[in-house]
Amino acid sequence: MLSSSKDFVLSKTNYIIWRDCKKNAWLKIHKPEIYFQNELSDFEKQIIETGNEVDLLARQIMPTGEFQKKFEADGYMAITDILVGNNLYEVKATNEIDKKTHLHDLTFQYIVLKRAGFEVKSANLIHLNPDYVREGELELDKLFKIEDMTEKVEDLAEEVGAEMQLAREYLAQGEEPKGPCDCVYKGRSAHCTTFHYSNPDIPEYGIHDLARIGNSKAKLIELIDGNKFKLEDIPEDLKLSDIQKNQIWTYLNDRTIISRENISEELDKLEFPLYFLDYETFPAAIPRFDGFSPYNQIPFQYSLHVLNNPGAEPEHKDFLYTENGDPSGAFVESLRNHIGPKGSVIVWHKDFECGRNDELAERLPESKAFFDDIKSRIFDLEVIFKKQHHVHKDYKGGSSIKKVLPVLVPSLKYDDLAIKEGGTAAETWNKLTADSSELTADEKDLIIGNLKVYCKLDTYAMYAIWRELDKLIS
Ligand code: SF4
Repeated sequence: MLSSSKDFVLSKTNYIIWRDCKKNAWLKIHKPEIYFQNELSDFEKQIIETGNEVDLLARQIMPTGEFQKKFEADGYMAITDILVGNNLYEVKATNEIDKKTHLHDLTFQYIVLKRAGFEVKSANLIHLNPDYVREGELELDKLFKIEDMTEKVEDLAEEVGAEMQLAREYLAQGEEPKGPCDCVYKGRSAHCTTFHYSNPDIPEYGIHDLARIGNSKAKLIELIDGNKFKLEDIPEDLKLSDIQKNQIWTYLNDRTIISRENISEELDKLEFPLYFLDYETFPAAIPRFDGFSPYNQIPFQYSLHVLNNPGAEPEHKDFLYTENGDPSGAFVESLRNHIGPKGSVIVWHKDFECGRNDELAERLPESKAFFDDIKSRIFDLEVIFKKQHHVHKDYKGGSSIKKVLPVLVPSLKYDDLAIKEGGTAAETWNKLTADSSELTADEKDLIIGNLKVYCKLDTYAMYAIWRELDKLIS
């Protein structure tokens, strides 16, 4: 607890959080048990690790620099990434400059340093260069871009200075800010983990969960200001999209929409054998292999269930690269061995697999004809749910496999698996194959087993969903 608001020191990190959400920044400082109530997701942990990794590498291009120097003045505190003489450098593990955050971050430091009596000659951002393609050893001078932001920072200094004062006053107050938080006027995807704490009267499933309602600000404002939070409260004359209407109808009537004719029309496009295919990939910020740019996805695993005829049991095939090298060549070779010249290739959300195929074909031009052929045979099973041919209240307006599977095949579950989602799979593979990996042989075997079980379920789930749909139209 602070002895007085005069003692309060605003750090750069808290200022940046305050800019994003005042209430959240207040909770972080005064009620950390609420703010940190959820463990960090694997995705969030990965962002932090990537940031540290990029930071360490960026220091190598500034060998004469001083790192992590702390400055404090007038109740504000900043720790700089790199100082070279009087030149300030902030490192960002992104491909582009985020104009909404990065400049404010740098300007905060610029102001604190100046107030602490340090002369800042230039303020710079260092970020990854999306155009860099690794060939051989990493070339740090090409991997990073250094952009002089001094002029922009000077232009922004007055605005940021005023914000810093407001943020400090707001965050120093001992009493919790009252009322609902700002996200009450945003869709569910914008809500953070403390939304329910700040808005206890808003139902956990209601108007905020309507599909894409966050894009219809006026509608959301109308409903909120009219005190209508439940799906039951929505006036009949409110203009809604078909997806939103179906979501509400299935919820209120507890019934499922099944358009057998449309499902049949879609499934009739399939040709046996059916290949149910799913990829796992890792987006490496620092390119690990030749031909990769920052954040290019490394395809390291796939699972494939092959159904030769409608009554057969599907055969399972898979690939997982566990060596410390580029999996691309072995990945493609294995895929070519497993996918025959005829039959539909069924995926869920085809943009992802097709995107990876295009990248593989670019890196390995000899595989282009194979991937062109695959492209012509791809069938996206999600389309049936996207096009609303099958709508259940528990889809909650979505069409991801994680929503559809428990409804159509409740016996298949991800809950009991050690790896439950793609982000964790990617992070796990990175640990398994990274240069710095210190895993024992037993630990590696366990990880390999977990990765295989997870990916296998993804394609078996697709097969099982197809089978349920097929039963519906038979
Ligand atoms: S839900 Fe939104 S406004 Fe509310 S605390 Fe979280 S980020 Fe802030």
